Amino acid sequence: MNCADGRRNVRHGGAEAMGLNHHVRGSQMSQSDSVDEDVQAFLPDQDQLHTYDDLTKVNPVTPTTVLKCLQARYRMKVFYTHAGCTLVALNPFQSIPDLYSLDVMKEYHCAPQPQEFKPHIFIVAEKAYRNVRSQLEPVDQSLVVSGESGAGKTWTSRCLMKYYATVAASSSVLKSQNTVKRIERRVLDSNSLMEPFGNACTLRNHNSSRFGKYIQLQLDRCQLLVGASVQTYLLEKTRVSCQPANERNFHIFYQMWNGGTDEQKKQWMMSHDQCFKWLPNSEVLIEEDCFQDTVEAMDHLGINAEKQQQIFRILAGILHLGNLGFSSSVDESQPCNLDEKAKGFLHRAAELLCVSAEDLQTCLRVQTLRAGKQNMLKPCSQAQCIVRRDCLAKLIYAQLFEWLVIFINKSICADKFSWCNFIGVLDVYGFECFHINNLEQLCINYANEKLQQHFVAHYLKAQQEDYVSEGLEWSFIKYQDNQSCLDLIEGSPLSVFSLLNEESRLNRDSDARALKVRLEKELCGNANISWHKFSQVPHFTVAHYAGKVSYQLEGMVEKNKDPVPPELISLLQKSDNQLLQQMFSQHQTENSTKGLSKVTVVSKFKNSLESLMKILHATTPHYTRCIKPNPECKPLMFKKQEVVVQLEACGIVEAIHISAAGFPVRISFKSFVQCYGLITKYSKSGSVRVDLEVDGATTLQSEVKKIISVVLQEHFSEPSTALVHCGNTKVFL
Ligand code: ADP
Ligand code: MG
Repeated sequence: MNCADGRRNVRHGGAEAMGLNHHVRGSQMSQSDSVDEDVQAFLPDQDQLHTYDDLTKVNPVTPTTVLKCLQARYRMKVFYTHAGCTLVALNPFQSIPDLYSLDVMKEYHCAPQPQEFKPHIFIVAEKAYRNVRSQLEPVDQSLVVSGESGAGKTWTSRCLMKYYATVAASSSVLKSQNTVKRIERRVLDSNSLMEPFGNACTLRNHNSSRFGKYIQLQLDRCQLLVGASVQTYLLEKTRVSCQPANERNFHIFYQMWNGGTDEQKKQWMMSHDQCFKWLPNSEVLIEEDCFQDTVEAMDHLGINAEKQQQIFRILAGILHLGNLGFSSSVDESQPCNLDEKAKGFLHRAAELLCVSAEDLQTCLRVQTLRAGKQNMLKPCSQAQCIVRRDCLAKLIYAQLFEWLVIFINKSICADKFSWCNFIGVLDVYGFECFHINNLEQLCINYANEKLQQHFVAHYLKAQQEDYVSEGLEWSFIKYQDNQSCLDLIEGSPLSVFSLLNEESRLNRDSDARALKVRLEKELCGNANISWHKFSQVPHFTVAHYAGKVSYQLEGMVEKNKDPVPPELISLLQKSDNQLLQQMFSQHQTENSTKGLSKVTVVSKFKNSLESLMKILHATTPHYTRCIKPNPECKPLMFKKQEVVVQLEACGIVEAIHISAAGFPVRISFKSFVQCYGLITKYSKSGSVRVDLEVDGATTLQSEVKKIISVVLQEHFSEPSTALVHCGNTKVFL
């Protein structure tokens, strides 16, 4: 079912695997060799290419020249480069401790002008930190880290958190000796706890985050870190019961398998002569497999030994569920039987989950149908039994993850009176395009589409419109606005989401073909949707800003409904495992069509994304674009073709154009006069009267003009008015 075979041979495998993107976006690079000659002509200082700290200074700015520059820098082991207001971070795929040491942090933190130092993620961190201090609106900050899987988003987010945990540490070292761990430690530990539960080894990244997260670091009036809160998005729970070929389940299962003591393993009923189906590739050991680190993080965050035991028993129970097999029943009126081999696993699963084995078996094999006011029992087919087994595992795992996040928040969130500003770090999965894509990819790509719009709106559009409204001459650079794509996906009244929800709410067996006909009829007016004429598989293709993706419709409605048989919830509510009981005590058992109409997967996701966008809009954003230089994850290997697709996909190319052509610095008249008014006080031409109470931009403007003229005349040997422009309300430099 969910085990998307399409994930096999996905992007892993390099150029071939990136095929779709090349097809759509690769045109600019298709004649890369001939473009190389142009580069030769335009960039005579090829040997100096690595010295360009800001891509906007490369001349001319084209995808090819930018690429050359990044390549030269990568070769020289320079991994960070500015691109105007964005930071480009190339994944080194090797450890460089000297680049992130405490001393380096201090250097950037204490520098009067850190931006004059070499480009670094710490510049972004420090800039956001100083913005909070300057109290310029919006005071709260968001650090948006994007990129494709394996590009370095999570690594970068962790690095940002470490930076703040160091430079904004509120606890004294003395306190750290107490049993209650320092808040900075606990904030970092929240990562160490979420990762084993939410990350897995995939073909593209051995530590791939299978969920998105937004962490708000809470700062008090003195700008010290006093707490944090975490919001997570779309955990890929299907991985619990179905691991794509050559990939693994979530790390935590392997940590238990490899790191549990003999005593613990006995309690979890795991012996090494057993083979767990949901623990594939357990012989592949990775550095993230350290069970002790997870236990330590739990200790620090306050999850006591008893709770830990409950958690691990639940996880062991899930693994045992995976080995339950069912034989097909000859007589449809009889439930199909559990495989003989599976009986031991059933009893052990039941014991670990603290439920009755009898009840567990019944839940998996018999469904309760509601006919009017009466309940009817109906035996399940073999396939239905498997769906129910998987559903139970996913339900428990997702709920456990949610419980952990809630627990973490309770442990690290400062009380609302003790913090006043925050710096948010967003780490969400990048654009995905597999051979077979379904609802998961649609949601992920929709999220990226939203973030791209935020990026475009905030930097590209805002920058250009600013020039226009300020009365500066400006020729518009064509940028790709993705509103029509968003309308297609989430708009109302008719969009992919609305039609999908409509179909999901109908209490009937879903029919992919019927849905395709519906989409075709209702949405054909939108140029962003298309269909391959000769394809036999019901699908639709969306032209995303980052490339075209075809989504298969088979199974999409069912995934959107994500139905949970109420019997499963009742079973877990009766569990003697205190944690399971607690996790499901509030859970709705109602599974009527009425209940379903409210919460489909896409409507839930759309809502959570909308709240995130609201927060982002109310903060000052800083973008870091992580780039994966090669799909093999090898150090010092730079594949141009792979990189250019990523540069285009994240809007860097357009952003570079705009930043380079415009004025990177803009200051409101009032701030300008406040900052630089004093300069004129000691000027040869006498002081400028700075009256901030004077209402009206015109007066301020004339004062600004005076300051500018003094500065230009007295501080520049060759004053050029091209350096600075006075708009209607702002100064552009
Ligand atoms: P993403 O979250 O974008 O999928 P990760 O942050 O997990 O990617 O990075 C993948 C791997 O790349 C990491 O496990 C790490 O080995 C390596 N990596 C990323 N950034 C760096 C860095 N700045 N220095 C060293 N290694 C890095
Ligand atoms: Mg990640």
